[in-house]
Amino acid sequence: MTHDEFVAGIRERYSDLFDPANSDEDWRYLITIGPGWWPLVEEYCERAQAMLRDHGEVGLWFVRQIKEKFGGVRIYVRPATERLNVDWYPQAVHDIDPTPVQELLSDLRSQIVERANTTCEECGDVGGLRVINGWYRTCCEKHFEEWQRRKGSI
Ligand SMILES: [Zn+2]
Repeated sequence: MTHDEFVAGIRERYSDLFDPANSDEDWRYLITIGPGWWPLVEEYCERAQAMLRDHGEVGLWFVRQIKEKFGGVRIYVRPATERLNVDWYPQAVHDIDPTPVQELLSDLRSQIVERANTTCEECGDVGGLRVINGWYRTCCEKHFEEWQRRKGSI
């Protein structure tokens, strides 16, 4: 499966999670992670969509981006109507109490992020955070060696 095929599948199966106003161009950059994490993202989408349906909050929350940053997976979710420029992270301070769904989504995301931290982004094997010259990746031994060779450090 190519990355495009993976993203197309997510777009089709979990349409409740994404803003219907997203253009094809938006979708090109919406999910940018390696194949080792695809099953985790699939699981996130499946469970998040079920939560929204169970709580009757479909269309109130949208996944805005799923990407790799500093070796970890980042999943950004925003209220559909949010116009304020406030990032919604578990560690962010907010004046309003989170709704039950917000808490459930946040817990789910933490679980997925934690598992991604020990999963090679390339192949899905057991891995850990590696750093080369300020570049971060979560990968297994094999893909760390490949990466080192590409970077010319061994
Ligand atoms: Zn690997």
